[in-house]
Parts: sequence; structure tokens; C-alpha cells
Amino acid sequence: MSCPAEQTSFHPAEQAACLKMIAPRSKAAFLLFTIRITSDQLSDISRMMRRRLLSLWLAIIFLFLACGAFADETQTAIPPYLQGPVNIQLRNGKSFTNVTIEEATPGQAADTFVKLRVFDPAAGKRTLLGASAIKQITNLSGDTLLVYNTKVRALTPANFDRLHAGRTPQETGTDKKLADSSKNRPTRAELLESARRQRYEEERRKFHERTGVWLWPLLTPEQHQQALAETKEYLKSVSEKFPSLGLRLNETQYYLFLTDLPPAAAQNYISCLDRMHEELCKAFAITDKQSVWLGGKAPVVAFSRGDSFAEFEREFFKHEVNPQQVQGLAHLASNGVVIISFHAGQDPLYLAGVIVHETTHGFIHRYKSPIIIPNWLNEGIADWVAMTVVRGDSGVRRKIKAGIERARQTGSLGPNFFTADNIAAEQYGLASAMVDFLLRLKPKAFRDLIDSIKSGQKWDVALKKTYGLTPEELTHQFGLSIGVPNLQP
Ligand SMILES: [Zn+2]
Repeated sequence: MSCPAEQTSFHPAEQAACLKMIAPRSKAAFLLFTIRITSDQLSDISRMMRRRLLSLWLAIIFLFLACGAFADETQTAIPPYLQGPVNIQLRNGKSFTNVTIEEATPGQAADTFVKLRVFDPAAGKRTLLGASAIKQITNLSGDTLLVYNTKVRALTPANFDRLHAGRTPQETGTDKKLADSSKNRPTRAELLESARRQRYEEERRKFHERTGVWLWPLLTPEQHQQALAETKEYLKSVSEKFPSLGLRLNETQYYLFLTDLPPAAAQNYISCLDRMHEELCKAFAITDKQSVWLGGKAPVVAFSRGDSFAEFEREFFKHEVNPQQVQGLAHLASNGVVIISFHAGQDPLYLAGVIVHETTHGFIHRYKSPIIIPNWLNEGIADWVAMTVVRGDSGVRRKIKAGIERARQTGSLGPNFFTADNIAAEQYGLASAMVDFLLRLKPKAFRDLIDSIKSGQKWDVALKKTYGLTPEELTHQFGLSIGVPNLQP
């Protein structure tokens, strides 16, 4: 009657070693989202991904269309890559070590900063620094984050000039003559793209001023290329760490799939990945499908054996997992990096559901902003999408049935359903059932709910605003819908 295997764990942790390889500009906190093994039998992987243009599916397609923006609290006041301790070298020879940047005033051009407010925890002091006083800023590993750029008279990433070589003078703030006289004058398409990016950056800045939240930046093609190269370097280092496994890299349109699964078995998953991506893009109303992941492609590391998977987690994330309980993980970094890892488990066919579930966590992470949505909602959406996308996956429906049965017996959603960092195994079914309920109740409000949370609003405030319900009232109405009239949170 219970689903003993359906448990999750959640481990926020600093993953400096990995990030140094894949994101040298920042140290970012990784969140792990896991799915544990169940014994579902799925008949045919290549038939499992399907289009379900049912009313609910259409509902979620529309959920994410709008960009409602309201917030009353700040969670991310500076770009993710400037979070964490830094060293600042001043032009007068002095320096600040191990300080944090509390505020960064953007300059006229994208990716530039004219003023910083710095906090020195050792001295307990805050200092305002104009860009021109600073020579460079590095992270504690010595990687350069920002340098003073005399052309734009602001702090910029070290590769700023190269990355902005094709942009308009207005964008970079550089001398108009530079663009006019350039032999590589940008094409009309490039100029339009630059203008689009500039408009987005302006909106992004205004959004931050209004809400305190930085939306994910729109990367230039050069930045995507660089991110892709870094991801490939990272995967190369994974291969080198496991020479005996003979890991092979399969590059698809949206994924870098590194695996030691037998080629025929691997091909089943590989052929599904891009289709799944297209489906998820539809669900999240994402039109720029190539820009979902940094570099356009997410790394997926798939091991045949559970012990290899556990060793990978240990080596690259300093993270102990029991592969008999954990089959897949979504590593989500605050700088936008997403890494999916899993092992084939006892039943390789079950993997399709695992992959969709974990990738959905990745999508939610890359949607709008790095703000983390409540765990019940995150897991509920991931299971709901897995149920919708993966044909024949009865696992989620079974969890829902068991969850409702338990709610009937206990009259409750279980401990800390709304507030837990990681809901319990037996609460997954209720989480996806509640997502389903919210979708049916008011599809458009669901979209607004996610957008509001991603804009920095507390989820219960967002719920009240979008659905007009408190968590208790939601519980009560949800309870009525599943035949448990006195359901308590
Ligand atoms: Zn999950």
C-alpha cells in the first residue's frame, strides 16, 4: 500500500571542485533533485515519449506564457557569478580580500558595472567603490571575474571586448568609429539580434530594480559557444576519471550524453532526448529552444552501473548517494549550470520517467530566474510532466492513488508538506495531485503563481494573489476534490 522506493533527498552544497571546471567565473551553490527507483515496467522506450495535446497539456502550455512581475523581497540582488567571496585589487595598489559584493550598479552597456557596494566581514565594514578605483576582481581561486575596462569606463568581464566585438556602439559604449570602420561590419541580422539583446538587458535591469531579482541573462552566441566548450571540457574530465568504463560522448541537438550504456540501449534514450526537449519547451512556452541550457546543450551523464554513478557523485560533487535508492539527480547551480546524472538501475526502461522528471527540474531552474520554487511544487510539477510526457508510466498515477489513500486515512498532507526542503517519499503523489488540482482550478493562475514566485514573491503571498487562497484554504479545497473534506496541511 505504500511506495517505499519513492523517496527523495535534497542536498544544497558548495560544489567548488566541479564548478571550477565548468564555470570558472563563479562558485555557485548546487541543489540536487533526486528521484528514487520504482519498479515500473515500461514496454517500449521509443514509444514512450508522446504528444498529449489533452486539455491539461494545453493548460500547461499556456501556464508559462506571461511574465508577471511582482515581488516584495530580494533574493538575488547581484548576478549569480558575483555572489560568493571575492578579492578586489584596487588601482592604487591596495586590495580587499575575502569580501562579498552586496550591490552592483549596472553600467550603460550589458555586462558592465559602474559601482559596487562591498562588505568586508572581517572588518565588519561596507565600502562603496566606483569602477575606476578598481583594477580587477577575482574569486578566491584567482579566476578573474571583472576588470576595469577603460573603453567603456566600467567593470566588465575580461573577455568583454571580444564578446562585444559584433555589437552596436550604443550597446558597448565604445566609440562609434569602431563599428563604422570595422572590416567585419555586423550584418543586419546581427544588429537586430544585438538590439533584441539590448532591449532584454534593459528590461532585465528594470525588472531587477523593481523586484530585486535578476532574470537569467540572455547570452551572446559567443558566450554560448564558450559555455559549450566548458561543458565538453568538463565531460572530458569525467571520461578521464573513469578510463575503464570507456564513456562515449553522444552529441544531440540539445544534449551532451556521456555514457557507458551499450550503444543499442543508449540509442533508445538518445533518440528520445531531443523530442523530450521539444515537448518541455512547448510546456514552458519557450520558443528559443537552443538557449534553454548554457551553451545550448545540457550534459547528461548516464552510467550502466549504480556504483559508477555513486563514484561520479562522490568524485565530482562530494556527495554520497546510495544507488539502490537514488537513480537520478539534477544538479542545479546558481550560475545556471545544470547537470543531469543517473544510472540504468534494475530496470533500464524506467529511465525515461527519471530523465523527464530530472530534466523538468532543470527546466524549472532555467525558467525566468534562479529563484527556487517550493519543493512540493517543484516535485509536483516534475512528476506531473513525467506522467504527461512518458507514455505508459503508471508510476506517478500509482503514487497519486497511494497519496490520496493515505490522506484519507490520516486527514493530512503529512509533515511540513508546504515548507519542507524535501518532501517525504509518500508525499510525492499528493504533490503532483495538488499541481493537477491547481491546473484544473485555474490554468492561467498557475502560470501567474510560478511567475510570481520566480519574481521573488513568497509562495504563499503569490498563492493568495493568484488563486485568492491561503495554504489552508488550498488544502481544504484540494481535500474536497479528492473526497477528504477535512484535510489539514
Ligand atoms: Zn524530483
